[in-house]
Amino acid sequence: MPSPTIPEARSETLWFDGDFIPWDQARVHVLSHALHYGTSVFEGIRCYATANGPAISRLEEHVRRFLHSAKIIRMPLPYTLDELGRACSEAVAVNEMGECYIRPIAFRGAGEMGVLPKNCPTHVAIGVWPWGAYLGEEGLKQGIDTMVSTWTKVAPNTIPAQAKIGGAYVMATVAKIEAVEAGCAEAILLDSDGRVAEGTGENIFVVYQGRIITPPLSNSILGGITRRSVMQLAVERGYEVVEQAVSRELLYMADELFFSGTAAEVTPIRTVDRLPVGTGKPGPITLRLQEDFFDIVKGRVDDRHRWLTPVAPAGAAVD
Ligand code: PMP
Repeated sequence: MPSPTIPEARSETLWFDGDFIPWDQARVHVLSHALHYGTSVFEGIRCYATANGPAISRLEEHVRRFLHSAKIIRMPLPYTLDELGRACSEAVAVNEMGECYIRPIAFRGAGEMGVLPKNCPTHVAIGVWPWGAYLGEEGLKQGIDTMVSTWTKVAPNTIPAQAKIGGAYVMATVAKIEAVEAGCAEAILLDSDGRVAEGTGENIFVVYQGRIITPPLSNSILGGITRRSVMQLAVERGYEVVEQAVSRELLYMADELFFSGTAAEVTPIRTVDRLPVGTGKPGPITLRLQEDFFDIVKGRVDDRHRWLTPVAPAGAAVD
């Protein structure tokens, strides 16, 4: 069987059920419950190279959301917040990574077949790999092209939006394929009431007449951790930030639009449905917040919010 390698972007080892094992040996059984019914939860975390070594951005919040995701789908997780946080740091250190992406995943393994997960043990793995700008280096600078998806974000009383559940990303995947086939970098999904929800893996912000508007959690969005960071940075800059339902047409009227996300960071949007956003170039507020965000996570300024967790070198004593 060919090994599931991503050329270049891989690490030597992965953390799997409590131990570090070689990348190629991180296998699952084909009758795993998660493979059939989508019963997995995951996180996406970034580690940045700072002048003082690698540092993980908002580690505790990510691990807490991971635990909540598992609880929401009633999947027992046999590790604590501290244990998982430490395992994430160790995965970076053991693989001698600098700037990288960290992907914890928990899933129901093989047990009795059927929807009811009977005797399906929870497995937990953490992979790390170098991952550049998710929507492209050019996208970070020039902005990206987007379309409003023909797919609708799953309604909140179907698959919960607050949990990062593997199965829910089938909708995200088809929306993303549709967008890419239409020549766009990303899709914007509306919720079941036709309001703007989010991207397939990003939250969305609208700048309109000097105010910064982002959909509330009740519009079927994930409570993004980068979303919270951006809101905080915007308030610190003196901008008015409101969580408010966003109509589709506001996307076309907006002065600026941008996505936030761990993978996407702060990415300007330059077109929606082929219409230019504002001038068609990333706007000043977007660029200001993007710079403020990178200044903190890359350790260029004081980490005044304590967002960064420094990664101790492998083998270093941890108190
Ligand atoms: N929405 C969705 C659907 C996502 O998958 C993500 C990525 N985790 C986000 C928003 C952004 O969240 P965060 O800033 O916590 O990465």
